[in-house]
Amino acid sequence: MICPFCGNSETKVIDSRDTNDGKAIRRRRECEKCQARFSTYEEMEIMRLTVIKRDGNKQEYDRAKIEIGIRKALEKRPVGEEKVSKILGDIEFEINSRSSGKNDPNCFNEITSKDIGKIVLEKIKEIDDVAYLRFASVYKDFKNAESFKKEMEKMET
Ligand SMILES: [Zn+2]
Repeated sequence: MICPFCGNSETKVIDSRDTNDGKAIRRRRECEKCQARFSTYEEMEIMRLTVIKRDGNKQEYDRAKIEIGIRKALEKRPVGEEKVSKILGDIEFEINSRSSGKNDPNCFNEITSKDIGKIVLEKIKEIDDVAYLRFASVYKDFKNAESFKKEMEKMET
């Protein structure tokens, strides 16, 4: 995002929230060079998606749930807000392209919660190893120390 005041390309997000109708995100940014503050409005694509859970139950896709999980995994990690928004966008893009459904606009596409977990793990692994392990331990439900250790070893190779 380019600073409208000095043209610098390094700006950071200092606040981010949904608009009232939930169709866009308002981001408050600060230029890292001249410290000017400005807002941007970014359209959010509404996904009509059904998530099939492990027990077979179906649930409507909830982007907030995924975002909370990722932010929790990244807590106190040296990963900037830019990167967090990027990974969230990437994840949603992948979920969208890997979901399947009939070409009927009234029909929700479907994806399993397992596939969503896999996508999140892949993406999170690209940016931070610790966050990856945190997320994996929740998602993969490591049954014992042994499987956790195996995962650690896989990461080191
Ligand atoms: Zn500036």
